Amino acid sequence: VSSAADRLTDLLPAAGVELMLVSNLINVRYLTGYTGSNGLVLIGPATRTFFTDFRYVEQAAEQVDSSFERRTASQDLLDAVGDALRGGELRLGFEEEHLSVHQHARLRSSLPDRIELIGLTELVEGLRAVKQPEELERIRAATELADQAFRGLLEHGFVGRTERQLATVLEQTMRDLGASRPSFDSIIAAGPHGALPHATPRDTPVGRGEMVVADWGAELDGYNSDCTRTVAAGEPATEAKDVYQLVLEAQLTGVQAVKAGAGGRDVDAVARAVIDGGGHGEHYGHGLGHGVGLEVHERPRISQRSEDTLRAGNVVSVEPGIYLPGRLGVRIEDLVVVTEGGCEILTAVTKDLMVVS
Ligand code: ZN
Ligand code: ZN
Repeated sequence: VSSAADRLTDLLPAAGVELMLVSNLINVRYLTGYTGSNGLVLIGPATRTFFTDFRYVEQAAEQVDSSFERRTASQDLLDAVGDALRGGELRLGFEEEHLSVHQHARLRSSLPDRIELIGLTELVEGLRAVKQPEELERIRAATELADQAFRGLLEHGFVGRTERQLATVLEQTMRDLGASRPSFDSIIAAGPHGALPHATPRDTPVGRGEMVVADWGAELDGYNSDCTRTVAAGEPATEAKDVYQLVLEAQLTGVQAVKAGAGGRDVDAVARAVIDGGGHGEHYGHGLGHGVGLEVHERPRISQRSEDTLRAGNVVSVEPGIYLPGRLGVRIEDLVVVTEGGCEILTAVTKDLMVVS
């Protein structure tokens, strides 16, 4: 079995570098297991070096994969990179979207001229997009935990409780069930407020007959889940039911289209066509889905501008929505694992319209 560090090393020749500096902490975690807040990795065919400062020496000894040599440096770790680079001319890759202009200048000035710095884009992120079996197990567990927390929330009804109370209870339940933390600030948005895709829960009670959008996730062992359900608090109006059915049809169509080899743009398009066909194209302004793993939003992307092709082992959300300003919002989101022939749905909460008290 090849490690993440092996897989990254294999990519370096095609990227045009002999060595790569990984500075993004999520990527450092992916490669080494380290979860602290100051760490840096240098990686190449004959190099596996992990840098941290004195505060994290013990944590690194426990967490960092034994294939890495551990070095302790001053708090600004970039200053230590030069000392670890021996020999002659060398092309050193760095993470273009994670190293600031300031850090780049500092790194450049600390390195001898024989080292050429080459900006690289999403190399580790591309590896992270295809989940290993042990990663899938963690995402599966996070999803189950989040499902269970939501079922608990439904039992006590929504009408008369504020959005903030509901969000607080949901998040506390996830922690009680063992989550490290919510994957993101939970969204509970009732009635017209649900028309804001990224609504912040208010101190406003849920009214009878309102549609309530709930979007939540649990982080467990570093891995995240992401799910949205829209429930009716009391019997909904006809318009709300119709919108719900249209979003559901788009969601099911999107899930059907997910398989290895499918383009992220194409999967988005088939689901979007359902909503367009129902006359609500202008009320659906976001992409269909995104990868989920160590981060809640990662590769691959499923959207109108996506250039990603789905691969077996991707974990993606499928989450169409319709947002009617001033009236209501409906979004339905599942987390699925891409397989060769289709996908496996991880989220187990029903997608039939639930009417709660
Ligand atoms: Zn979500
Ligand atoms: Zn999502």
